[in-house]
Amino acid sequence: MNILFASQVEKAESWLPLLESALPQDRFFAEPRDDIDIVLAATPPAGTFERLPKLKLVQSLWMGVEKLLEEPALPASVPLARLVDPGMVSAMTETVLACVLDWHRHLYRYRDYQRARRWHRHRQYLATDRTIGLLGLGELGSDAARRLLALGFNVAGWSRRPKKLDEVACSTSLEEVLSKSNAVVCLLPLTPQTRNVLNERTLKAIRQGGCLVNLARGGHVVTKDLLAALDSGHLAHAYLDVFDTEPLPEQDPLWRHPKVSITPHAAALTDPRTALPRIVQNIERARRGEPPLNLVDRAAGY
Ligand code: NDP
Repeated sequence: MNILFASQVEKAESWLPLLESALPQDRFFAEPRDDIDIVLAATPPAGTFERLPKLKLVQSLWMGVEKLLEEPALPASVPLARLVDPGMVSAMTETVLACVLDWHRHLYRYRDYQRARRWHRHRQYLATDRTIGLLGLGELGSDAARRLLALGFNVAGWSRRPKKLDEVACSTSLEEVLSKSNAVVCLLPLTPQTRNVLNERTLKAIRQGGCLVNLARGGHVVTKDLLAALDSGHLAHAYLDVFDTEPLPEQDPLWRHPKVSITPHAAALTDPRTALPRIVQNIERARRGEPPLNLVDRAAGY
């Protein structure tokens, strides 16, 4: 197979030695050419898909594929597979737990108090007092659900299609999930249906004093509505990892908002060490003429 590594973000030097040793019979390239069979892509350079007549598979190097789906030259007939990287799933769950526990244990407040040398305790809640609402119950949401349940939290979750997960209050009604939730964690793909899903109306549905954790995409949240919900005291805190414009511009008011914690789209990074087996598996499937695992449903947009 001739395999094109096409990314302006992922570093070829981290991936290529691993790929070459796992797939010694294949050839790897950094520039498009007529005999490419497979593209490994994450933010590919402009024009990557314009002249690849033999293309059999596009394998994303990321879990989110909304940018690849916007590529005008991505052929509709070629399967697009997203990455499901077990290392990334664990990393994301760790970030979910870190944010939820930071809010639940009032640590974000105590950090402020330390700066003011203020000794003041807040009421302690038990995990069983809290319901964590997960928007998205896919690879990421379902793993986070299991680990939150293990800590004793109640978990509610929203998905597009009806779902059953042990001990999780699953629903296809967003209102139902939000109205139960003290903290809401967004782990949705960005699609036309999920863009701006966290807006004035839906943020109001979250329980008073709750928090929002957005680890999915900036486009899920209407920022001005979130700021209004924080300023009015309806929400206590927001943990934001993803933004409409990344890097977040220096002058953006989110940087300085006292109720916002910002991380630089670092909730879960692809780790070539854990991602590689899944990518190799899909390349082997393509070699045998089989459809890839984790095929993107282009109509659903994820
Ligand atoms: P999956 O495709 O496995 O799961 C997506 C979930 O969202 C599913 O439960 C799906 O429902 C649900 N969903 C999709 N559309 C809707 C809708 N319209 N209404 C209700 N629910 C909906 O995705 P992953 O869990 O692997 O990843 C989710 C997203 O996380 C990625 O798309 C990416 O954007 C983001 N991400 C962010 C990272 C970061 O570092 N910040 C790192 C990795 C991923 P159903 O079960 O019915 O299909």
